[in-house]
Amino acid sequence: MAQAEKKTSVAIIGSGMGGLCMAIKLLEAGYKNIVIYEKASSLGGTWRDNTYPGSGCDVPSHLYSFSFEPNANWSRKFAKQEEILHYMQHCAEKYQITRLIQFNTEIVSANFDEESGTWQLHDKNKQYEAQILVCACGQLNRPALPNLPGIQSFSGKAFHSANWQHDYELTDKKIAVIGTGASAIQFIPQIAKKAGKLHIFQRSPNWMIPKPDRKYFSFEHKLLNLFPILTRFYRYSIYCSLEVRFSAFFKGSIVARLFEKWAAYNMRKQLKTEELQQAMLPDYPIGCKRILISNDYYPALNQDNVVLHRNAVTAIHAEGVTIKEDDSDKNIKVDTIIFGTGFESTSFLAPMQVTGLNDTKLNNAWNDGAEAYYGMTVAGFPNFFMLYGPNTNLGHNSIIFMIESQVRYIIQCLAQLEKQQADYLHVDDKKMSTFNNKIQQAIRNSVWDSGCSSWYKTASGKITNNWPHFTLQYWWQTRKPDFSFYHFQKVEKSTTD
Ligand code: NAP
Repeated sequence: MAQAEKKTSVAIIGSGMGGLCMAIKLLEAGYKNIVIYEKASSLGGTWRDNTYPGSGCDVPSHLYSFSFEPNANWSRKFAKQEEILHYMQHCAEKYQITRLIQFNTEIVSANFDEESGTWQLHDKNKQYEAQILVCACGQLNRPALPNLPGIQSFSGKAFHSANWQHDYELTDKKIAVIGTGASAIQFIPQIAKKAGKLHIFQRSPNWMIPKPDRKYFSFEHKLLNLFPILTRFYRYSIYCSLEVRFSAFFKGSIVARLFEKWAAYNMRKQLKTEELQQAMLPDYPIGCKRILISNDYYPALNQDNVVLHRNAVTAIHAEGVTIKEDDSDKNIKVDTIIFGTGFESTSFLAPMQVTGLNDTKLNNAWNDGAEAYYGMTVAGFPNFFMLYGPNTNLGHNSIIFMIESQVRYIIQCLAQLEKQQADYLHVDDKKMSTFNNKIQQAIRNSVWDSGCSSWYKTASGKITNNWPHFTLQYWWQTRKPDFSFYHFQKVEKSTTD
């Protein structure tokens, strides 16, 4: 149903899944004054950036898509990057979002002006203004490079998985891959097919389970197109089957022990030497780091041109990398280094400077680790919202479900502002800190707190990324904002006006 046009201006930062969803639902709710600021020259966020060979989603596509825009034609169960990006471009066109995106605009700072009740945004050239600021920057958008001595001195080609150099030919090259997380296990099998020699440097092994992937048959496409209700039902069944897996994320869970046995059995079955089998067995409970899914990573490790090193790289030099072996340095010559070393996941919006009431800087407020109320609002930062913010990441289900819950919540906040004829709202700091204490308490009962290193943790060990409950709980608790947790304020009009 068409809504009356609303004047409130909304700035969204980022045109990934979150930014698109926010803009689509704002338009639907009658907000027309929307700008999406995008630092790159095209939309897509993580699915625009991560074009490495084999890049794809480890959540089934019927669930890793918007509930309001089902796609009966996904080519396979776990879509590859190109198809997901194509889906996002389709959504942007269909819902007329592309025209709202201002490309090549990286917002470097955002300051809340109390007098006007507006956000003043800056890129390197200009200033922009909006009443509402929604940051949809994601948690994994800034590639992390290891802090290794000599990293600049390498004379060959070096790049990060999120910045793949497609023009650079890898055939017959001697390649070093540093890092063995979710990205690396997708590109390693692809480059192992062509590398002359592939050295993989693993700091710690991951739990991995088979990927139940396959192409969809054309009769399945026909059936889903003919009966759209079946597409919805299918999506719902995937959601339920993933949601129950959360029971494996409690510390000491029996379900997790069974999962571990199954994962270890699959690993042993696929790796041909005992040495490899030992190297690939994690010493921490399953789920502590993100569980990886793959059918081609273990077979790639068996290849004759692939060497798995259990010793972390200690330095990089002009001709390759150095590792410690039997207490002495060993140099390995390579002509290419690929960093699969992940992202700066715990600094969230940094390096963007966000300044709220009383000149408070968000980065200072988050000195001890980022926190927010349901990952969306922060005390002292009025009319400021985040999508996929602190403690909303999942280890077991689709982030799109969380994003849609957040978008619904934010739109209700905007409606309430209008209803109360207020200029801005901000969450109460005591309520927010009580909420976060509970989150951290729940995290202590989760498997993430089991003594492994992971991108969910800050350097001091605080888990700032994950939601420690079922997603159904998140949906239930955010379906209707409790406005008694918020302060609503009007801008004081100057008497000289
Ligand atoms: P990641 O999971 O954080 O893995 C980084 C890897 O680099 C780990 O093996 C880590 O070792 C290693 N590493 C980090 N710093 C290092 C250093 N200084 N020296 C040596 N090794 C170092 O990063 P990612 O693989 O890019 O994946 C990040 C996340 O992106 C995933 O968990 C997932 O949520 C998302 N992702 C999703 C998909 C998908 O299918 N949906 C695909 C790719 C990525 P340690 O484990 O020992 O720390």
